[in-house]
Amino acid sequence: MKIHNFSAGPCVLPQEVLQKSAEAVIDFDNGLSLIEISHRSKAFVDVMENARALALELMGLEGKGYKALFLAGGASLQFVMVAQNLLEKRAGYLNTGTWSKKAIKEAKIYDDIYEVASSESAGFNYIPKGYDIPSDYDYFHCTSNNTIFGTQMKSFPDCEIPMVCDMSSDIFSRTLDFSKFGLIYAGAQKNMGPAGTTLVVVHEDILGKVSRKIPAMLDYKEHIKAGSMYNTPPVFPVYVSMLNLQWLKKLGGIAGIEKENEKKAQLIYSEIDLNPLFKGYAVKEDRSNMNATFTLENENLKETFETMLKEAGISGLSGHRSVGGYRASMYNALSLDSVKALVEVMSELERKA
Ligand SMILES: *Cc1c(COP(=O)(O)O)cnc(C)c1O
Repeated sequence: MKIHNFSAGPCVLPQEVLQKSAEAVIDFDNGLSLIEISHRSKAFVDVMENARALALELMGLEGKGYKALFLAGGASLQFVMVAQNLLEKRAGYLNTGTWSKKAIKEAKIYDDIYEVASSESAGFNYIPKGYDIPSDYDYFHCTSNNTIFGTQMKSFPDCEIPMVCDMSSDIFSRTLDFSKFGLIYAGAQKNMGPAGTTLVVVHEDILGKVSRKIPAMLDYKEHIKAGSMYNTPPVFPVYVSMLNLQWLKKLGGIAGIEKENEKKAQLIYSEIDLNPLFKGYAVKEDRSNMNATFTLENENLKETFETMLKEAGISGLSGHRSVGGYRASMYNALSLDSVKALVEVMSELERKA
């Protein structure tokens, strides 16, 4: 039976990417496994260079002063590295959910943080708008897609200071003017690859401005100087990410996948809106095209619904423990057919109820 994988992360990946990755673990370079060759070998250096170039190419950032890095430590380490490398006096953070809060908490270790706006009192079900960003701050930090609450920034403020964005759960899912940002980071396991590496895209002009000493492993400049190989990089996650970026390029890049992602989101949200058994969590204008959060209004139908999901091969639909209900994560590699299968179960439940 086909499994429809709605997991919020680690996420579904294209079958052909999984297939090629599996083959490379056995034989990547003349009978040697990808995970047993030197990361300094030409074969692997090519992988790293390819992955870095593809990331910039897909975002339209080649030749614009940006560098791409594939680091370890997850997006969570970027909460720390961003502050370590960029925070001198004060920074502004937009608080839109659990991940923003964690980013703020880590940055507070370094200095005072100003929350430009927060949607916490409304349970993070919307994206604040119309806030001011002081122009004398070091940087402004936001989270483009709130994986847990299912909200997404549909536009970004005009910002005179470097804008830093955690794009972990919607990177490469929609066209944006990426040159608006000074630094973008994304844990691979939401929409790019397996867990174990984090993409950082940074404009070199914003670095080297803080007075503190930075340990080499936390210093973007050191990683750039070393070609993203200051130490042994996470070779397998980088390779799988590279394959996935190649897959994306073949599909027409970000613009190509964006159309598919819009179709999937429209399908699920129209079912949530029309089916009286379900209720969306996020306010309509800020709903995420990646993570649709919703609840089943009648608790008595829970067991029936979940049995039907199981029978239809639908997996990974439970909501995050802090929100409850359901969350359909529709990352790039999830097909429209999988969303159709889910919507079919939802409308079948309505017919039965
Ligand atoms: C999952 C997630 C993180 C944390 O990622 P790790 O790689 O596990 O540290 C951070 N930000 C967002 C938006 C996420 O979805």
